[in-house]
Amino acid sequence: MPFRALGLEANILKAVQEAGYTEPTPIQAAAIPQILLGHDLIGIAQTGTGKTAAFVLPILAKLAGLIKPDQRHPIRCLVLAPTRELVVQIEENVRAYSKHLPLRMATVYGGVSERPQIQALRNGVDIVVATPGRLMDLMQQRQCDFANLSFLVLDEADRMLDMGFLPSIRQIVKALPQKRQTLLFSATLSKEIESLTHEFQRSPKTVQIGRRSNPAETVTQLIYEIPKHLKPGLLIHLLKEPKMDMVLVFSRMKHSADRIARSLESSGIKTATLHSNRSQNQRLRALKDFKSGAVRVLVATDIAARGIDVDGISHVVNYDFPMHAEDYVHRIGRTGRAQAVGDAISFVTPEDHGTLRSLERFIGRGIVRKRAEGFNYNVPAPAFDTSGDRERRPQRAPRQSHGHAPSSGNRAGGNQGSRSGQSSRGSSGGNWRPR
Ligand code: AMP
Repeated sequence: MPFRALGLEANILKAVQEAGYTEPTPIQAAAIPQILLGHDLIGIAQTGTGKTAAFVLPILAKLAGLIKPDQRHPIRCLVLAPTRELVVQIEENVRAYSKHLPLRMATVYGGVSERPQIQALRNGVDIVVATPGRLMDLMQQRQCDFANLSFLVLDEADRMLDMGFLPSIRQIVKALPQKRQTLLFSATLSKEIESLTHEFQRSPKTVQIGRRSNPAETVTQLIYEIPKHLKPGLLIHLLKEPKMDMVLVFSRMKHSADRIARSLESSGIKTATLHSNRSQNQRLRALKDFKSGAVRVLVATDIAARGIDVDGISHVVNYDFPMHAEDYVHRIGRTGRAQAVGDAISFVTPEDHGTLRSLERFIGRGIVRKRAEGFNYNVPAPAFDTSGDRERRPQRAPRQSHGHAPSSGNRAGGNQGSRSGQSSRGSSGGNWRPR
């Protein structure tokens, strides 16, 4: 189906063409007509499916009909997203698709000065893309007038709930006109997401792409079973393969992300890190260097990497195996984006085996085990654990892998003994907050 058939206006089609898109992705083909008809929408789709354009394009089409170049620009559309990185990416999308329209936009997120954000809002903007925390701050300072708002988008709603944003979202929505179109996107349709849709939407249509929580078909998945002390060496060994030219490495914790980066750098492999201890500028810089190819490897924690939109990632490496099946699906969704083929490699230590079995049940298939050719598996373990992360597992409340009812177990890796049942947040626990 060509984009033309979706009923988008000429200036938007032109921008889409300039972005190099020839056909709408499945989520775009399904969602755009419903949004243009004025329906509320629940979009169940992972990052990488083209979901951003699925909501941005029809909203721009509707706004284009409302806006005259010379008028003031009251806020007509608010997009809420969980992280600064995702806000910046949505901004890039909006700017690209609206380049032939007289629209203005602003981004609102924490970690940087409020002043330019307030100034932009005062100058008038049609579209605001924001994280809930900073937006609440600006609303409390009476810097946002939502009287003319017609569109609300909750992007990556599941992650916003995970990060504890529900109270802020509720307060923000209270300040919006009741008569509006509300679009909600989430990677999974959990009970919490369903109750959110009842709270904020009216008779929404649901569009679901792919099997729930299923990794993209284009990603080849492989597992290397190794003891923990061999992980640094195996990563360096695998990176000798020239095909691994744009590699996203996931670590469980911030301090181990830094350690991995140091070990790669000392082997001459250019590496950047992305985690919440880094300043906003450092994070944007890391992403920029990775996108431009100035560094070949980006080491990130789950929250920091959430929603990052980088084309051409050749490999995702789960250096630390994720604790939850959903995280696995999100992580490997960074590669194989928009049909490019990518590889997802996971290091699995003996203590990860329970989690791995649960994951394989969750995604409905086994993952191929591989041995690294030419790698010395016989290096003995050091007498002391020098990794520094012994007994420092992230302290997260048990989370269900599917279904999401917080009180009824069955989370991935149900046989992990001491790892389960910890509900307080450790000092190294990232942005996660107990639900
Ligand atoms: P998203 O799921 O919104 O993060 O989009 C994933 C990637 O797909 C982004 O890099 C988009 O630029 C790209 N993309 C979005 N729509 C299309 C399309 N119709 N054809 C090709 N690529 C697209």
